[in-house]
Amino acid sequence: MKILVADDDPVSRRLMQSILQRNGYEVVLTEDGLSACRALTNAHSPRLALIDWMMPELDGPSVCREVRRCRKDSYVYIALLTAKQSHADIVEGLEAGADDYLTKPCHPAELKARLLTGRRILGYEDRLVKSREDMRYRATHDSLTQLANRASILSNLRQAMETAAQRKCDLSVLLCDIDRFKSINDRYGHLVGDAVLGEVAQRLSRSIRRGDMVGRLGGEEFLVVLDGCGAGDLKSCAEQVCTAVSRTQICLLEHVLDVSVSIGATTFQGWRGDIPLEQLLRQADEALYEAKALGRNRVSVWGSSLLSSIPACALDSPN
Ligand code: GH3
Ligand code: MG
Ligand code: MG
Repeated sequence: MKILVADDDPVSRRLMQSILQRNGYEVVLTEDGLSACRALTNAHSPRLALIDWMMPELDGPSVCREVRRCRKDSYVYIALLTAKQSHADIVEGLEAGADDYLTKPCHPAELKARLLTGRRILGYEDRLVKSREDMRYRATHDSLTQLANRASILSNLRQAMETAAQRKCDLSVLLCDIDRFKSINDRYGHLVGDAVLGEVAQRLSRSIRRGDMVGRLGGEEFLVVLDGCGAGDLKSCAEQVCTAVSRTQICLLEHVLDVSVSIGATTFQGWRGDIPLEQLLRQADEALYEAKALGRNRVSVWGSSLLSSIPACALDSPN
């Protein structure tokens, strides 16, 4: 583990270095408070520090205050080193942000034990950060497909619409619904149905560009957000996504399945910037309804309806 030692006295610096190296630490040495601050406030800085109180320019307590002010993301465990032993000094050092206080010259066994206390606290922090990240992941991802979940993809879409409106750019959304999914469940069972959902999720993810987004809205319905895609490119982009799902059969255990999606597509025009998210989704839903009615495994773009020109009796049931 890395540890920073800041001391302007070369003899005590070397002494510390040799004790710490014997205990397996990777030692970073600095000679004054300013370089200690710099070394403790960059992305890969040590998380343990032994800081001498008396140093030129910035003294130990000032280094503590500066580190506490700048480092909000992860904790640095700081022990102040000093010959000062009055209660007032100890209080001043701790109030400046030090975690511990060691009097010089340090006894090697005591130094080792006190640093272990610091490592124990850093270990707790690591575990807390990890469980926070795990919870954040679980709150924003769908556990079956590992895609963004409904709340997360809708919040990302809202954000993308705001950005598109500010930049006067377009974006498009694709509402994708697996065709006749109920019959897959009925015929092969729910476990196979779940595996099909996972495979479709992967095919959708692989079919989009970096910067585009995909999430599971619920059931067998997915939302794709195509960043920067305007009405002119929408049909061909959506058809690529549609074909990416149905191009090859899905092989699961002993089953080989033909799986497809129907897609309702629509565009948000950033220069207008006046369509709320709910309306955009309604448009996509209307277009999806049309894609189902026209026979499934196809794309319908909202606003270019074919339905009105086809007799109702010739249409596939959307349900
Ligand atoms: P359409 O082509 O009109 O979309 O028909 P469909 O059968 O796909 O649509 P329908 O809405 O009738 O059926 C959707 C089915 O999806 C019903 C539901 O049991 C199933 N389903 C929803 N969520 C899950 C899931 O997490 N796992 C599995 N295996 N099935 C699910
Ligand atoms: Mg559905
Ligand atoms: Mg369906």
